[in-house]
Amino acid sequence: MLKGTKLYSVFTGKCPVCQEGKMYVEPNPYKLSKIYDMHERCSVCNQKFKIEPSFFYGAMYVSYGLGVAFSVAAFITSYFFIGMDVITSFFSIIAVLLIMGPIIMRLSRNIWINFFLSYDKDAKHKTSKSE
Ligand SMILES: [Zn+2]
Repeated sequence: MLKGTKLYSVFTGKCPVCQEGKMYVEPNPYKLSKIYDMHERCSVCNQKFKIEPSFFYGAMYVSYGLGVAFSVAAFITSYFFIGMDVITSFFSIIAVLLIMGPIIMRLSRNIWINFFLSYDKDAKHKTSKSE
């Protein structure tokens, strides 16, 4: 449905270029020991995921932004919608960040790599031709 948009790649963790190959070895981000295990290249279009050494360090900036966004959302939900007091609302921020942490880490990598790579519907075709 969203295929062809960057959102599809961001939310599914699939290759930003062909949107078919998986970027992560382990689909479940809550297996923390494997959270950063990525395939070297896309199994479908052969795109390299770690474009340059320490490429994913930049994802830290994205995760910071996402963390702030989740915190604000958690606070607004707890304080204004559920009606918790201020202190409890702050605890709910911590809870949300802990629970969502692994997802935030992966989303930030997915968003980061999508800044640099774009969808190409012919990506599959290109590799098969060059081989
Ligand atoms: Zn691919």
